[in-house]
Order: sequence, then structure tokens, then C-alpha cells
Amino acid sequence: MPGTIYLVATPIGNLEDITLRALRILREADLVACEDTRHTRKLLAHYQIHKPLVSYHEHNEAEQAEELVKKAAAGGRIAVVSDAGMPGISDPGYRVVQRAIERGVPVVPVPGPVAAEAALAVSGLPCEAFRFGGFLPSKPGARRKLLQSLAGETATLVFYEAPHRIQAALEDIVEVLGSRPVVVARELTKVHEEFLRGSADSILDELRRRPPVKGEITLLVGRGETPAAPQAPLGRRIEQLMEEQKLDRMTALKTAARERGLSKREAYRLWQHGEEE
Ligand code: SAM
Repeated sequence: MPGTIYLVATPIGNLEDITLRALRILREADLVACEDTRHTRKLLAHYQIHKPLVSYHEHNEAEQAEELVKKAAAGGRIAVVSDAGMPGISDPGYRVVQRAIERGVPVVPVPGPVAAEAALAVSGLPCEAFRFGGFLPSKPGARRKLLQSLAGETATLVFYEAPHRIQAALEDIVEVLGSRPVVVARELTKVHEEFLRGSADSILDELRRRPPVKGEITLLVGRGETPAAPQAPLGRRIEQLMEEQKLDRMTALKTAARERGLSKREAYRLWQHGEEE
């Protein structure tokens, strides 16, 4: 008789944000798989739950997923948690779920907090459709390319972002998407919870005036006033920059490449071979 893998959501800050069911499942589990055992031990101790813990994180995910599913296949009740929120959402969890499904071991969700959803719900941006993008790429080129690919998206965009990259991310948003409505949701459910709402450039100005921002951030971007205009072909855009902004050929190429998240070499190749046209 196989046991079960439970994916259990845990608080994203405030320790009271845990469901009664999550607490019961954690109490009844034979083993709790978590990212950081010290972090999870604190949470469990708060609720007087004492369970064997095993660490399951991005560096041992593949082997550990196999082990956990073996234990569940042999009848074990395995609770999988992450450091915060729902396992599997920009967190380890996916591999164990995949393995369990392959082996016919039941996987049961025990839902609870997710930073993206908490931020979206109080953002004031349209919630009927949203597109969750996980962590924005840390490299500027890849980040701009991704934003460019989302220019026509009408759903609210939701990203996770590190505090030391938030300004750079907003600069790219202003450059690639224009000054859209933006919400920076910081330290949700914690003592220093804060929401910055406004246009992307006004939020950027605000952050530039402050000392470096700290804490955990969920970044939301609303749709533009009008749907994004289809992008001009690269060659035309270069000509436009040369004419309107009086840029020389190389500077215009560099600018157009940056707008599209392309390297200068890649843009040059596309321009010469007309692959974009
Ligand atoms: N599994 C989690 C969930 O369900 O939300 C997400 C884990 S991901 C590794 C961590 C990122 O989520 C943080 O870097 C931050 O961008 C976002 N996040 C987590 N807790 C948050 C909070 N209290 N306030 C704002 N954003 C948060």
C-alpha cells in the first residue's frame, strides 16, 4: 500500500499563516523534507511539532526526489515543504511530484500562502488574469528579451525579484514596456510590509531616493494604456533612431539591440540578413 507525498504550504512571513490542515499533516507525517532544516525546525518548534527532517534543495533535488518517493512507495507519509510558501512555486518540489506521478504514488496538495497571489490580490491591478513569470532573469540582456516577449501581454505580470536588482529591473521595464502601472510588494505579512504603487518611472524615482531597499519583493506590472504596438522590424527601428534621434549607425544598432535584449553581434547579424523582416 503506497503512502503519500504531501506538498505543504508554509508561511511567507507571519507564522500564523499556516492552515489547520497543514499543521495536522505535519504532525502526522513520518518525515518532513525541507530546504533548510534550521529554518523548518524553527517553524515546527513554534507549533510543538517534532519530526525527523531531511533536506531537499536545488542541489540534491534529483537524488532526494528518488529517495522520498521510494519511502512513500513503501508506505511513508512524506510532507514536502519549502522555506516559504508553496513548494514547487519558484522552489524545489517539481521533481518529487514528477517522480511520484511516474511511480504511481499519490501526491496531495495542502495549499496555503503564495507570495505572488497575496501580492496580486492587494495590488489594485487587474486580477482576473495574471501571468506569473517566477524570478526575472538576473542578466540585463536576458531580462530585456523576456520583457520584450511580454510586451503584448494583457494579463497582469507577476515576478519575484531580489532587492539588489529591483532598480535595474524597473529601469528595463521603463525602457522596454514604457511607464506601466507597477506595484512593488515588499515583506508581505511581515513587520515591514510595504506596497509601492505607481507608474514604473515614479517607483524607480522613489527607490533611487532611498537607501538600498531590503527584504523580499514581489513585483507586479499592469498592462499598458493601449496594447503594445507591434514592434518595428530591426532595420526600420535603426533607421528611425538615426533619423529621429540623430544617432550614428553603430549607436542606433546598439540602442535597438538593447531594446530587444539582443547582443550587438546578434542584432548586426539579423540586420544584415534581414531575418527579422
Ligand atoms: N514558494 C514561494 C511562494 O509560494 O511564494 C516562493 C519562493 S521563492 C524562492 C522566494 C521569492 O518569493 C522571494 O525572493 C520573493 O521574490 C518572493 N517572496 C517570498 N516571500 C515574500 C514576501 N513575504 N514578500 C514579498 N515577496 C516574497
